[in-house]
Amino acid sequence: MRRKLIAGNWKMNGLSRDGLALAEALAGKLEEARLAGTPPSCDLLICPPFVLLPILRSTASDAEIAMGGQDCHAAESGAHTGDTSAAMLADVGCSFVLVGHSERRQDHGERSKDVAAKASTALSAGLTPVICVGETREERDAGRALDVIESQVRDSLPSAGGSGEVVLAYEPVWAIGTGLTATSADVAEVHGAIRKVLADLRGDATAQATRILYGGSVKPANAAELLGTADVDGALVGGASLKAEDFWAIATAC
Ligand code: PEP
Repeated sequence: MRRKLIAGNWKMNGLSRDGLALAEALAGKLEEARLAGTPPSCDLLICPPFVLLPILRSTASDAEIAMGGQDCHAAESGAHTGDTSAAMLADVGCSFVLVGHSERRQDHGERSKDVAAKASTALSAGLTPVICVGETREERDAGRALDVIESQVRDSLPSAGGSGEVVLAYEPVWAIGTGLTATSADVAEVHGAIRKVLADLRGDATAQATRILYGGSVKPANAAELLGTADVDGALVGGASLKAEDFWAIATAC
């Protein structure tokens, strides 16, 4: 049985006081729910900007909210000005890292093989990589969505030798930050196809144990339907993760 994961990608938003207020509000909601004997039946993950990680560490860990980075470098260390290593993320309390988000693929020219290298380094540092894949509007309109996604999954997975959990996130590029969401039928089709690729590459047991998240304009109003869709094991949430009420409403829709 795969436990659902609700992950918040804060992107480049929030100064220290905003981030702390958001994490504290979430921690408060969790505490209340636990005291009432109604904790959410999912794991919670927040991925704040790098500089906020040390500031949020104790609030997140006291509340048992996992923390993740939004990216890491493929190298373990060295002359990479402006970059952050997977080990540095682990060192400030992260247990996850997003890799291959479409904004990284678009803004920084990351290719799937770069994503695989980052995922591999993340595993070596003890982090769980959340590997993001998804098609553009043009690719979907051209009937190529499944081909694109399947090859992104094949090429973005760390080499088979690496061990440790990976999480996949299906995020149609056209659904991110647009208010548009894929239909449940399309999401089920894509998630099923991703699980099949995982089974081909890693075997059935691993494919069945791997969480596949959906991301792209998830909000309280559509969370229950998306989270109830076949093969959906959680959500990667951007905009709605910046409001504690909305993120909490998504988490409690699990
Ligand atoms: C994201 O950036 O990962 C995302 C899903 O954003 P949003 O929820 O705002 O569409």
